[in-house]
Amino acid sequence: MLTLSLVSRFKRHTRDIPDRKVSTRSMASKTPVGFIGLGNMGNPMAKNLLKNGYPIIATDVFPESCKEVQELGAQIVDNPADVADKVDRIITMLPSSPNVVDVYTGPNGILKKVKKGSLLIDSSTIDPSVSKDMAGAAEKMGAVFMDAPVSGGVGAASSAKLTFMVGGAEEEFTAAKELLSCMGANVVYCGQVGTGQAAKICNNMLLAIGMIGTSETMNLGIRLGLDPKLLAKILNMSSGRCWSSDTYNPVPGVMEGVPSGNNYQGGFGTQLMAKDLGLAQNTATNTKSPVPLGSLAHQIYRMMCARGYANKDFSSVFQFLREEDSQ
Ligand code: NAD
Repeated sequence: MLTLSLVSRFKRHTRDIPDRKVSTRSMASKTPVGFIGLGNMGNPMAKNLLKNGYPIIATDVFPESCKEVQELGAQIVDNPADVADKVDRIITMLPSSPNVVDVYTGPNGILKKVKKGSLLIDSSTIDPSVSKDMAGAAEKMGAVFMDAPVSGGVGAASSAKLTFMVGGAEEEFTAAKELLSCMGANVVYCGQVGTGQAAKICNNMLLAIGMIGTSETMNLGIRLGLDPKLLAKILNMSSGRCWSSDTYNPVPGVMEGVPSGNNYQGGFGTQLMAKDLGLAQNTATNTKSPVPLGSLAHQIYRMMCARGYANKDFSSVFQFLREEDSQ
């Protein structure tokens, strides 16, 4: 009996209390939350946690990024390990897979000082295999890692309207949702760790293909003498309609309040789209899935980066195609 109870205590201590349905962390509301990566997305997301009454302990390699949340009351520390030392829930919002590996497993990474039972939520868009690796490394330290990438850009991050696609242990979803609902309108459980990334990568591959298709269609129609607004109207009442044609049209002057009306400033950068399409390629190769249009979309967005479009919104593929075909 004594041996059994020791084993069960050891399991609880090292494996994050596996036999409960709802994490006790979900009850520990308004205790400080760590936030790492205060860029275009992380900054407004952290602000929404602050607005909801969560004290924030944050860090970013670029000190200037920390200023706004610091002025709103967040405590700024030197590195991810120092964040992990002070909290038991951390959200990371970083550019790409190598940054995530560094922030979790690097010399000053989260896992150097993580508390047992901590909940680590990564909202960056990265390779699902890296999410799985981070989950394994976190588990060895007695912590729980979940992937929760987002759909929706800076505007949705500011207005707390993001969609979160969450992968990881289902019994931890309630605890994750408590924080994610402060930053998003939809929090969707996708399955085991890495499936949030899978959903995000699939969505963005379709988005890129749809945006390129809309752009070349609009360009052809304009060259055939159609008024772009009229063409968009017809597409949007016909079977060619899609998000890129009716909500985010890439042709300047067709819609208000979208990047195409503002010289493709703001929105979702071409470089980030190229990165997501690269992730789609890797995962397609690993799963032997044919993605001919996804491959072509990846090449087009990579070419755009090489031709000076890297920091423009991804809908600038319309402008890129116009420049291409006029040569
Ligand atoms: P960003 O480059 O603006 O911000 C990332 C931040 O992480 C930067 O402030 C950077 O200094 C910081 N950082 C990098 N390495 C770090 C480290 N080792 N330690 C601490 N901080 C570090 O990127 P973003 O636009 O905020 O995007 C973040 C993620 O969200 C990306 O994976 C992106 O694909 C995804 N995403 C972005 C959008 C968008 O519209 N921008 C939309 C959906 C998803």
